[in-house]
Amino acid sequence: VFIVLLGPPGAGKGTQADQLVERLGIPHISTGNLLREAVQRRTPIGLQATAFLDRGELVPDSVMRRLIGERLDAHDARQGSIFDGYPRTVAQAAALDAELGQRGRQVHLTIALDIPSDVIVQRLGSRRVCACCGSTYNAITSPPREPEICDRCGEPLVCRADDSPTVIRRRMEIYRAEAGPIEDYYAGQNRLAIIDADRAPVLVTEATLVAIQRATPYRPGLPLDAAVPVSAARR
Ligand SMILES: [Zn+2]
Repeated sequence: VFIVLLGPPGAGKGTQADQLVERLGIPHISTGNLLREAVQRRTPIGLQATAFLDRGELVPDSVMRRLIGERLDAHDARQGSIFDGYPRTVAQAAALDAELGQRGRQVHLTIALDIPSDVIVQRLGSRRVCACCGSTYNAITSPPREPEICDRCGEPLVCRADDSPTVIRRRMEIYRAEAGPIEDYYAGQNRLAIIDADRAPVLVTEATLVAIQRATPYRPGLPLDAAVPVSAARR
């Protein structure tokens, strides 16, 4: 089953991706690890990507698309994968469809983790870091023993500049401007599930798995090829 995972910073996307990897037994393909692997493996397309990265430039769509294609041909991705950080534009979403289509596959479902900006501000705004040793805390979910004091060195904790409400809200706006059209693209094809991410991570995972089971031919233990096509399953 091929899943696209969308969500703003602070929505718990990394945690959910890890859970889906474990529960579905398919790899997590993030833009970050895709580029790292490409650099390590030194494939022709990997070297092309490296050249852009070395110059501090964005890897162009055509190269990203070929990287994705190369990754899809790896043995572990035959039965599915979780895409994270790609697609970032409607053009990339269409390119992903084309790459999967060439392999007789498709994106079955896009999961959009939905969370109010205020909650993100609260979640990220409660992160604390020790300027002395770099230890990180969360005043709500993983507080230090003594409020605002580093457990390790007893220094006062600080809030990262990145986590100021103004910066977080700006990041959310950028995210929504980017994700909105992608959500519309998949929603228009009945391939979008919006999941309320403002609750315990385990509940978010369960809701996500229910959405995947409803919208896709995925059944645990069944190879993808043996499953019913999505269009037939919906009727
Ligand atoms: Zn410290």
